[in-house]
Amino acid sequence: MIEIFAPSELPRARAVGALVGHILHTVQGRVRVGTNLLEIDAWTKAMILDAGAESCYVDYAPSFGRGPFAHYICTSVNDAVLHGLPRDQVLRDGDLLTLDLAVSLDGVVADSAVSFVVGAGADPSDLAMIETTERALAAGIAAAVPGAKIGDLSHAIGSVLHDAGYPINLQFGGHGVGSTMHGDPHIANDGRAGRGYTLRPGLLLALEPWVMADTDELVTDDDGWTLRSATGARTAHSEHTIAITEDGAEILTLRG
Ligand code: MG
Ligand code: MG
Repeated sequence: MIEIFAPSELPRARAVGALVGHILHTVQGRVRVGTNLLEIDAWTKAMILDAGAESCYVDYAPSFGRGPFAHYICTSVNDAVLHGLPRDQVLRDGDLLTLDLAVSLDGVVADSAVSFVVGAGADPSDLAMIETTERALAAGIAAAVPGAKIGDLSHAIGSVLHDAGYPINLQFGGHGVGSTMHGDPHIANDGRAGRGYTLRPGLLLALEPWVMADTDELVTDDDGWTLRSATGARTAHSEHTIAITEDGAEILTLRG
């Protein structure tokens, strides 16, 4: 289902977007070498509940997962890229961490993800991969104007990823958001311009380019959730929720 929000409803979308951006910013600022993934989950739970918001993850039980997710944030480390189930794992210097968070407040959802390197020992190729997904996200957002097609966004995102030499997995990508976390339309991270649904004001979209350094194949952990690169290569993921307005895209999940 595609939901369209009236201008009078946008303040609610801005509020939940700001909350998600604030939580991710705060958690990223607290993460240190030695932080346990379960601590990150606990911090996130406290901030969601303090804000009177609801987690989109705790009870999330899609066909591809194993039972309810039962945690508040996705923590994907190094070769893990999507749906990283928080576990008893301590972060080390140079680990590449992706946080992905979706929250509902006053009946509207926002969804955002950020990748960064923990500590001081960053591998330059990790930083380049993260920067590429951020640039692909920016290109998708720039293309998200009223009258554009979903294929224009896919093409803009995919062009950046291709040009940087990364394989692209089309199994998981961006999506509409609204009263639920995953609505229509689907926004693949590559595609042909001029195809698909036409963007109009009031549409809320989560754009989320992600890559694995040398493969487009995923494998699932024994936990039934965490998706890793089939080769063990490192991964990166950048996501924002945007609102389509008469003037173009407004980023709702800016971090701060
Ligand atoms: Mg997300
Ligand atoms: Mg998403």
